[in-house]
Amino acid sequence: MKNTFYLFVLLFCISQNIYGQTKDPKDTEVWEPVPRIVTPGKTNNAPPSDAIVLFDGTNLDNWHGWHEKPSQWVVKDGTVTVKPGTGDMYTKQSFGDCQLHLEFRTPAKVDADGQDRGNSGVYLQDKYEVQLLDSYDNKTYPNGQAGAIYKQYIPLVNACKKPGEWQTYDIIYKAPVFNKDGIRVAQGTLTVLHNGVLIQNNVAIQGTTEYIGMPKNEAHGKGKIKLQEHGNEMSFRNIWIREL
Ligand code: MG
Repeated sequence: MKNTFYLFVLLFCISQNIYGQTKDPKDTEVWEPVPRIVTPGKTNNAPPSDAIVLFDGTNLDNWHGWHEKPSQWVVKDGTVTVKPGTGDMYTKQSFGDCQLHLEFRTPAKVDADGQDRGNSGVYLQDKYEVQLLDSYDNKTYPNGQAGAIYKQYIPLVNACKKPGEWQTYDIIYKAPVFNKDGIRVAQGTLTVLHNGVLIQNNVAIQGTTEYIGMPKNEAHGKGKIKLQEHGNEMSFRNIWIREL
């Protein structure tokens, strides 16, 4: 009788495949959490339903210039264009982890080379620059060309369009994490698509963007998105952000 019982248990175990992988597909289904619904934009690159629209082509209500004064950049025909000499432009709101979309156009008229041609930049948290540059047939140091994490990471490829053509950046940013003593315990990361092409693949940010010297890592909280004024008449349109 006892042996019959053990035999029954053994057969039951085998039937349930306890010694190996389960054969029931339900055992590996995960039903929670259910992702919330986001409605995509109507056309490619249009802001999805949960995005904060930073610039829709009509005004700079979400931006300010140097010293929190109104930006002098020029809004016209659905775009905003850098006014050289007037300084950078910043979002009024501060952000941490985010997905950022923006469209930009380098000047159609090419009258300079290297870092002086179509230079601007997107700064995450006002500290970490994804370089904007006209790198179409324009030699410069690769860790300072379009799509570089400036002076930290060379882009995987050069996906630039011609001067005067609209281009896109889609940036996925994870902010660095600092502990209560101000020590960085996790590096920030950046992933960048340039005109839909992956050019930075989850690279670990070394620290602040520095023109001279090494990156720094002082603790900080959320920060503004900054668009750099570098003396060139760069234009922007359709800028939106999703907080992550
Ligand atoms: Mg720049």
